[in-house]
Order: sequence, then C-alpha cells, then structure tokens
Amino acid sequence: MTTPDRDNTDNTDNTDNTDNTDNLDNTANTDNTDNTDNTALVAGGGLGGLAAAIGLRRAGWTVTVLERATGLREAGAGWSFAPNAVRAADALGVGEGFRAVSVPTEAGATLRTPDGGYLMRFRPGRDTPLLANHRADLLGVLAGHLPAGVVRTAAEVTGVEQSDRGVTVRYHTPAGPRTARADLLVGADGMRSAVRRAVWPDAPAPVFQRILCWRGVTEPGAVRPDNGFRGFQTWGRGARFGAHPLAGQRVFWFLTVRQDQPGVRYGEDLAEVRRRVGDWHDPVPALLAATPAGSVLRHDIFDLEPLPSYVDGRVALLGDAAHAMTPFLAQGACQALEDAAVLAAELTHATDIPTALARYDRARRPRSQAVRRSARQDPEISLSTNPLTYGLMTRLTRLAGGAVAARKAARLWDWTPPTSRGPGQAVPKRPT
Ligand SMILES: Cc1cc2nc3c(=O)[nH]c(=O)nc-3n(C[C@H](O)[C@H](O)[C@H](O)COP(=O)(O)OP(=O)(O)OC[C@H]3O[C@@H](n4cnc5c(N)ncnc54)[C@H](O)[C@@H]3O)c2cc1C
Repeated sequence: MTTPDRDNTDNTDNTDNTDNTDNLDNTANTDNTDNTDNTALVAGGGLGGLAAAIGLRRAGWTVTVLERATGLREAGAGWSFAPNAVRAADALGVGEGFRAVSVPTEAGATLRTPDGGYLMRFRPGRDTPLLANHRADLLGVLAGHLPAGVVRTAAEVTGVEQSDRGVTVRYHTPAGPRTARADLLVGADGMRSAVRRAVWPDAPAPVFQRILCWRGVTEPGAVRPDNGFRGFQTWGRGARFGAHPLAGQRVFWFLTVRQDQPGVRYGEDLAEVRRRVGDWHDPVPALLAATPAGSVLRHDIFDLEPLPSYVDGRVALLGDAAHAMTPFLAQGACQALEDAAVLAAELTHATDIPTALARYDRARRPRSQAVRRSARQDPEISLSTNPLTYGLMTRLTRLAGGAVAARKAARLWDWTPPTSRGPGQAVPKRPT
C-alpha cells in the first residue's frame, strides 16, 4: 500500500531571514523541467491541492504547497470516483497510479432494501462501475508525483494580500509566522478555507444539511472483497448504507442518516451504527463486525452556498474551498480533480494570470454549481424519513430505476478535460 506519510517538507527554506518572507520567485526549481519563472502557492495539501500542484508543475510552474497538517494525513476512509474524475486524473498524468490503487465497485447501481431485496441490480453494459480507493492510498499516489520540497507541512495559511504584481500569503509554522510571495495563489484549503475568508470575507458560512455520515473500513482480509463482493447500497427510511470493495482485501462502508443538529455525539460510533443497521441484510453485520472499534469517522454534512466567482485577480479557489457539496452524488473529490485539470490547462503558457483565471471560473462554476445543487437536492428524497416518500421512491426505483439511473449518471459524468492552450495564445508577461 502506498501511504502519503512521506513528508515533503522543504527544510532548506529559501527564506529571507530578515523579514521571514519566502520570495518564491527565487525558489530553486526542484523539478529541473520547468522553463518559466511563474510561481504558484497552493493552500492545502488535500486531494484538490495536490492535484492542482501536479497540474501546474506539468504546465511549467514552480509550485509550493502549504499544508496545515504536520504530515499528509492518512485520515479518511474510502471514497468512489466516477469516469469524469478518472478522465481528469488522466489529464493530470496520474491516471495510472490512480487505477493501481483503485478497485471497481458496482455500488452505484446495486440498490437494496434493509431486508435484502433488490431495487436495482448492476447490469454490465448498461451500468458503469465506479473506482473505489482509500484516501490515504490516493493521496500517496499524488504525493509521489511531487518532488521533495514542494509540499511544506505544518504551514497554516492565515492571510492573503494581492496586487497586480503578485500575491503575498501569511502562514504560521512551528518556527513562527512566515510570508511567501508568488504570481498565483490557489485556495485548496477545504470547506472552511482561510483563503476564501480572506478574499471573499462576505461569503456565507457553510450550511448544515441535516445529515450525519459515519464511515468505516474493515480490517484487511476480515471480509474478502475479492470473493465476489462488488459493492452495494441499501436504502432504508431516512438512512442509507453503502459498501465498496477496496484494495488490500478491505471494504469501505458508510451510513448516512438524518440529523437535525450538527455536533450531536454518540458514546461509541460503531455501536451507534450497529444499533441503527446491525440487523440489516448480509453482509452489513459482518462488515460492522470486521471494523475496529474507535476507527469509525463521523461527519456532520455541510455544503456551501454559491460564490459569485471562484477567482479574484491572482487568487483561485478549487475543490471544497469553492464548492463543498453533500456526498450524495459522490462527486466532491471528482469535481476537485476536474478543477485541477482545467486550471492547469488554462494556465499552460498563460502570462496574463487574471485573464486565465477568469476562463477557469467560466469553465468551472456552472458545472460544479449544478453538481452541488443536485447533491443538495438528492437527499430531500433519498434520505426522506416520510414513509410515503420512501415507499414511492423504492417502488419507482424497482420499476424504472435501472435505465433512468444509468441515464442520469451518464449525464452527470459527461465531462472531458480541456486541452491545454498553445504558446500562440500567450498574453504579455506579468509586470516587473
Ligand atoms: C462523508 C463523505 C463522503 C465523501 N465521499 C466522496 C466520494 O465518494 N467521492 C467523491 O468524489 N467525493 C466524496 N466526498 C467529498 C470529498 O471528500 C471532498 O470533496 C474532497 O476531499 C475535497 O478535497 P479538497 O482538497 O478540496 O479539500 P480537503 O480534502 O478538505 O483538503 C483541504 C486541505 O487543506 C488543508 N488546510 C485547511 N486549512 C488550511 C490552511 N489554513 N492552511 C493550509 N492548509 C489548510 C487541510 O488540512 C486539508 O489537507 C465525500 C465527503 C464526505 C464528507
């Protein structure tokens, strides 16, 4: 298993010690392939930030990622990726590694009821398998595409200032406050983005969606996903359970329920999950039994209201920082990969950064906001606690679900990465 715990922190800081400013214009080019003096800072070393860094480096930029955590974390469970994300990964040059840590899952089109009945069965040819992987494995793949020194951990972004000549970022490190300057800042610092707060101070806070989600991963080998287990989702009334096979003979599962308030805590999360769905059909009890107590993650689900723009001058938002969404369409990380692929394409050969970012905004905002809206609407029906709504939903799905769901998914996943701009489209260099 590839793990992302290798620390890419650059301890040979090119800091100007007189004012603690990292002038990234002078940063040694660690890649030796870049032929440009364009520099970028990326706030956040999650999936979106690492993908953006990879894309920008491929586009010829010198990149530094500032990540708040002390290492590229292993925290997280599994997640699934649709074909649009795999195309984005290919465009970023990480598709091979992505596939290597992923396992096909039929959970997107295998829908069951708690007594074990089928509302819909995966049909090869009609339905497309998703790819499931562990967050740690995927972040490991992405980190492996960045040379040492690109990611600085224990670096928390706290402030942003920009002029028409560049962006200055303030960040905290264990050694004290620092500043760094670059031509571009990508805010990939998640739903509670410090970059968004600094540049869009009036943007509304994330909105709680009255949803609670638990996630767990089974011990390797305890339930054998290679033994015909291809994933499923089970729709209960006001509760949805799902399970995907993972590499390493593990299974990733989730349970999503209605919850009126954020911050509600249960004594032991696994016991609470067992209390709610422990008597559902096989293999739900076996999956819970194979999950180490204390390892279950609990998430209050928030999303973001739409922003008027994802860009401001030389600053661009990406991933959850721009458009955090509920996990109901399993598209948040997929959209972050799309963002990274488009950003890199727009910034290839670009020297008028605000103009290139404006194109990025035009390309990304309508699509990602449409997905975010659908992801907010979906649980209104699919997680309804109303017996009539639940009855109608299950009946309709049983009758017509397969073809309708396949068409809906195909529309959602219908995205192809742009091709990079050629040098002929370059615009004048930044002012010096
Ligand atoms: C329960 C659940 C299930 C999901 N399932 C799926 C799925 O199956 N498929 C899918 O596509 N998506 C899924 N998602 C969504 C997906 O997890 C997110 O969309 C994705 O992780 C966003 O990536 P990101 O890099 O934008 O943000 P994040 O993953 O939040 O990363 C942000 C990074 O920035 C760092 N950071 C934060 N603040 C600062 C700061 N001030 N300075 C420096 N660094 C900072 C953080 O430490 C973190 O490393 C799910 C989400 C949830 C909650």
